[in-house]
Amino acid sequence: MVKRTLNKRLILLYHHVVHTLVDPWEMAVTPENFKDHLEVLANEYEVLPLSKLSHHEPNSSGTSVFLTFDDAYLDNYSEVFPALREAHLPGSFFVATQILNENPNFWWELLEELFLGYAAVPELLELKWPDGTRYRKRTGKLEMSTQPWSAWTDFPKTPRQEIYLELSSRIKEFPPDAQKGLSGQLLSWAGRDPSPGTLAAKMAPSQLTEVHRSGLVEIGSHSVHHPALAKLPPTIQIQEISESKRQLETLLQSPVIAFAYPHGHFDNITRSLVSKAGYKIACTTEEGSFDAGHDPMTLPRVWVKNWTKDRFVLELEKWVNSN
Ligand SMILES: [Zn+2]
Repeated sequence: MVKRTLNKRLILLYHHVVHTLVDPWEMAVTPENFKDHLEVLANEYEVLPLSKLSHHEPNSSGTSVFLTFDDAYLDNYSEVFPALREAHLPGSFFVATQILNENPNFWWELLEELFLGYAAVPELLELKWPDGTRYRKRTGKLEMSTQPWSAWTDFPKTPRQEIYLELSSRIKEFPPDAQKGLSGQLLSWAGRDPSPGTLAAKMAPSQLTEVHRSGLVEIGSHSVHHPALAKLPPTIQIQEISESKRQLETLLQSPVIAFAYPHGHFDNITRSLVSKAGYKIACTTEEGSFDAGHDPMTLPRVWVKNWTKDRFVLELEKWVNSN
């Protein structure tokens, strides 16, 4: 098949490759659709490892697509890695290194599990915020829905969806310690142990090493605790940015040059701290394609949804042909 003649660079952003009905931010692509995406890419685009981004001169076709996967979910090992191998396509996994040492549950996954899944939880939720004020709300009865609910496009229809949105937007603003404290309160309120549900399960250090050694997957840093960095004082930002690099380089015995801003959140200070820490590439969640002159520390990415093959083709064309 003829490779398309285009001059854009496009970084695609995936999270989960899995079947699920609980997916408020549309982070999941089914394994079937994902394989179709890879087939389109293998046939029609030049897919390169992210490390080739800075010194890559576009070939005659001028087309470069880069695949990135954030948060190191276990399905990245069980579904993505074999599919990339089969298609002979490279990708990058961005890891928040908290998962190497601590409870691998992130606070938003706990919220999904408690308020959007089928968890039995007490009728009244009471939380104490770090400033001492309280949050109280009735959880309502559990409603089994067969329709996925999208926080992007759908208004909340149940008290649990309202709680999920209210807590998400507030908890995101806090530093990692406070987020940890709030997760602890939620766990003890719900009478749950801290082991993550299936959807939130993460890759083990040995699996990260294995995919890295394959030569097909590059590992990048996604901070330690996945905070909204620009909300934090620079000293804590530096810790998140540098410590995650050090931990991954120790694990992999190899330099880590790429960073992905957690929640896509950054400002000029964050950008310069990431650059000073020694990273050469940093990915945002700002949507778009870009050309060779773009700042390598603020690269846009296109968030891939659970698109069918035809829709995926159209979405790629839209971004690659945009100005
Ligand atoms: Zn992330």
